Amino acid sequence: MEGSFPVGAVVSRHGEVVATGCNHIFATGRDLAGSGLAHAEIDALRKLTTDPHDDLLLTTTLEPCPMCMGAIYVKRVGAVEFLAADPYGGACGLAPLNPLMRRYEPRLAGPDDGPAGRVAQNLVVAWLVSTGHWSATLQAFAEHDPALVHRVRNDLADELSGAAAAGAPFSDIVDLF
Ligand SMILES: [Zn+2]
Repeated sequence: MEGSFPVGAVVSRHGEVVATGCNHIFATGRDLAGSGLAHAEIDALRKLTTDPHDDLLLTTTLEPCPMCMGAIYVKRVGAVEFLAADPYGGACGLAPLNPLMRRYEPRLAGPDDGPAGRVAQNLVVAWLVSTGHWSATLQAFAEHDPALVHRVRNDLADELSGAAAAGAPFSDIVDLF
């Protein structure tokens, strides 16, 4: 993910992938990259046509933020599932604010309490600890899952930083947990 916040998104129709996206907040050289708006969901949704997308499912590794929920409504995506809760910026609990949102309210599912959800959350916490970015976000995760953040800070921080700096593959970083 080019050194950016480790979040990815997939749009699918009946199990077939239609579009994919990943976070580019700390990347350069692409649309929105480096702007703070380059979220994974936006990256995937911008690749869709202008048709309504009631039959599409957006799967994202982290609970969508308010901006991405807005884009989900605007693109009329029928369903959203997320793997890890975002105790800082997550906005899936946002009540519809206007007629558009009431009309196109997506079906929501998440967080995933299984291995996929844990991997998604672990990667986010590992990135927050190893980069030192966004202390308020890390604080929210620490309140949400104190044991995980404590373990990453105290037992895994050096290994995670080293693996990330060495460009270790995803599977190696996941194995550190
Ligand atoms: Zn977002």
